[in-house]
Amino acid sequence: MSTTDDHTGARPHVVLLPSAGMGHLVPFSRLAVTLSAGHGCDVSVAAVLPTVSSAESRHLEALFAARPAVRRLDFRLAPFDESEFPGADPFFLRFEAMRRSAPLLGPILAAAGAAAVVTDIVLASVVLPIARERGVPCHVLFTSSAAMLSFCAFFPTYLDASRGGGVGGVDVPGVYRIPRSSVPQALHDPKHIFTQQFVENGRGLADAAGILVNTFDALEPEPIAALREGSVVPGFPPVFAVGPLLPVKFQAEEHARDPAGYMRWLDAQPARSVVYVSFGSRNAISPDQLRELAAGLEASGHRFLWVVKSTVVDRDDAADLGELLGDGFLERVQGRALVTKGWVEQEDILKHGSVGLFLSHCGWNSVTEAAASGVPVLAWPRTGDQRINAGVVARGGLGAWEERWSWNGEERLVSGKEVAEKIKAVMADEVAGKKAAKVGGAAAAATAIGGTSYLSLADFVGRCRG
Ligand code: UDP
Ligand code: UDP
Repeated sequence: MSTTDDHTGARPHVVLLPSAGMGHLVPFSRLAVTLSAGHGCDVSVAAVLPTVSSAESRHLEALFAARPAVRRLDFRLAPFDESEFPGADPFFLRFEAMRRSAPLLGPILAAAGAAAVVTDIVLASVVLPIARERGVPCHVLFTSSAAMLSFCAFFPTYLDASRGGGVGGVDVPGVYRIPRSSVPQALHDPKHIFTQQFVENGRGLADAAGILVNTFDALEPEPIAALREGSVVPGFPPVFAVGPLLPVKFQAEEHARDPAGYMRWLDAQPARSVVYVSFGSRNAISPDQLRELAAGLEASGHRFLWVVKSTVVDRDDAADLGELLGDGFLERVQGRALVTKGWVEQEDILKHGSVGLFLSHCGWNSVTEAAASGVPVLAWPRTGDQRINAGVVARGGLGAWEERWSWNGEERLVSGKEVAEKIKAVMADEVAGKKAAKVGGAAAAATAIGGTSYLSLADFVGRCRG
């Protein structure tokens, strides 16, 4: 987003409430910096310490060090007995702990003198009533696609009509059909902690002052229009498509940015020759599937930069790369590949001219970053909202999605041969590269001054000023 200061009048104090995980923290910190530096707002971010992952704690530290204008509010959680949810994902547990602690936010908002609150979707249904009690308008930042937002908003209505008959394909009115196979796995289990939160938040959306969504009109015209017209849910609040929220450089991080030397390595590769492979910050891939993926990358014959994450939480990752990927793999691909287990600056990688393809799990931030960089995506969704996002990638001309490839919970392994063939096909497809570049142009136009996303954000800020 532009950093041009176009505001008039007072600086409204906007309090941002992210939930857990980099997929949520990253768009919130981008919004914080954009509102503070580019749209004339005073901004505070409520943070829960310690964070679940060490990536989050490094990110928060860097944000507050580099942007002193963005203030930190400490959100201390009430005691929470995790044993109620044996085996649950640690990020879901944190969501639940934050949701149960929401009443503690009331005094924090009052003390901060908040003019507006923007809550993460994950906390929406519990934060909205607290903000209402304090008379503070509450918006929601939806951290996934507009397609997912339309699904989330409609799902409670769908469930009410199905009367316990199970979840099949979902025809979202005015949008398109989300096939059963794209419905987030957890939603097939009504007792799942994610399902309970998801349905409550979906119902809560109608009470929000507005919904910010990290997408742009040209990428997702149908869901954005249907939400705004009230076709998905009649009387739906205003929808502000403000993406792609643009990355923020934290100078303080500079020295520690690239211990693996991937940027120097990319510099040495020919234009558009490298396949960048990453499944985000919290997707653990089974050891067998990791080995098939390794075999596929090797057999593709292409250069690749692979960020391997084999655990859900980075703090738990003690595995040895050589052991994970099989004997001799790293030696065989030496010279044409760089494989790392560390944190990378994905933005820098996607902007690098030698990257020609992004093999991605389609976490929504990754999709928006690929869109902003005009890099084609080969979608391999694994869980949650990722198949719905992969559908956006395919429809929006940002890349290809091999729908037969399995996702978490399915037994079938995708073979190295399948992976290699698909990579070769997409890398050879010049039209795919051109279409993705066009999406990149549309993303830049949306966030430039006067673009759709720029104006949407300015509209939101205008409402915060009252
Ligand atoms: N990311 C990164 N380096 C990594 C892994 C992830 O910069 O090594 C960033 C990525 O650019 C994105 C975010 O972390 O902004 C991950 O969010 P996404 O929605 O793509 O996926 P999630 O990790 O939530 O599944
Ligand atoms: N989500 C939602 N309502 C909820 C929780 C999540 O709509 O109550 C959306 C949200 O946009 C999130 C997506 O579902 O990005 C997938 O959630 P999940 O927890 O699987 O992944 P995460 O975003 O935490 O990596």
